[in-house]
Amino acid sequence: MSRPIRATISAAAFAHNLAIARRHAGAAKIWAVVKANAYGHGLLRSVQALRDADGYAMLDFADAVQLRGAGIDKPILMLEGFFKPEDIALLLKYRLTPVIHNIEQIEMLAKAGVGGPLDVYLKVNSGMNRLGFAVDNVRLAWNALDGNPGIGSVTLMTHFADADGEGGIAAQMQWFNEMTQPFEAPRSLANSAALLRFAEETRADWVRPGIMLYGCSPFSFKSAEEIGLRPVMTLTSEIIGVQHLQSGERIGYGMAYEAAQEMTIGVVACGYADGYPRHAPTSTPVLVAGQRTGTVGRVSMDMMCVDISDIPEAYVGTPVTLWGEGLSCDEVAQAAGTVSYELLCALATRVPVVEI
Ligand SMILES: *Cc1c(COP(=O)(O)O)cnc(C)c1O
Repeated sequence: MSRPIRATISAAAFAHNLAIARRHAGAAKIWAVVKANAYGHGLLRSVQALRDADGYAMLDFADAVQLRGAGIDKPILMLEGFFKPEDIALLLKYRLTPVIHNIEQIEMLAKAGVGGPLDVYLKVNSGMNRLGFAVDNVRLAWNALDGNPGIGSVTLMTHFADADGEGGIAAQMQWFNEMTQPFEAPRSLANSAALLRFAEETRADWVRPGIMLYGCSPFSFKSAEEIGLRPVMTLTSEIIGVQHLQSGERIGYGMAYEAAQEMTIGVVACGYADGYPRHAPTSTPVLVAGQRTGTVGRVSMDMMCVDISDIPEAYVGTPVTLWGEGLSCDEVAQAAGTVSYELLCALATRVPVVEI
């Protein structure tokens, strides 16, 4: 038998979450964001489960080519655009829509004499100060694309830095509207947080939900369950060893945890080489035989320890849920000082995937 760790991916949960996005999106079209191997869920299976999306947004050319090879013919948005002049031929060959966010890309397009029509997204920096044209260059970028006969449609886009936080979207919305007001073009603004929290203002023509499709919440103040989302990935394993500790005995690398009283410890076949965060502290939540308990001591490469003192039926072979159904990945991430995005993306390739 193989090691008992599994990531179960639910196609029904994908469809359910996409329907929620659709409800918020109204008449807007949906780019399902499937970058980073669909947030660790597997690119092709995720795209197939999200077949009702209007298009797919990603970063890697190899991923886009893989989807075209698999017969996916919906629009594909390349969120970082393209990188080198030779990429332009791939954009045309595979009908990919690049995000144009710097002058260098515009120059490459001009030089290449694009045999188009190549649809593009023009990214405006409305305050996040990551990718995009700032106010002094938006006009220049627009004119260059508008005047290039190889360019088909231009869609204006921006990205919110704090749609999930106190800052919200107001300042960026206002700045984006001011900068793009002279230009007649479709618009795309919303990530999951903006779509769920400010749908009316932000849905525009195309929305770009990511994390919500995977059943996690973009918010620290509202759970996925409260939003009505269902977890797509459930990471499970089993107890493969049991230890009985006396008060004062220590456990794991660094002897980092000391038992304050007698304890029973379950050793779970899941470690940081599977994608479980090594920095998860003692008491990070976990389910053993469906009951909530916590981790104990340091997470090691292939194993971790959990407290089963109050779960007498737990023994070798007892199922353990690390996150997913019954225990939101958001909660585990929060305990580990990170976000569900990071845990999902980090799922290791050595973990077998079961599709349901
Ligand atoms: C990743 C990403 C998204 C999706 O964000 P979520 O928070 O996962 O919904 C949307 N737009 C852009 C530009 C992104 O990079």
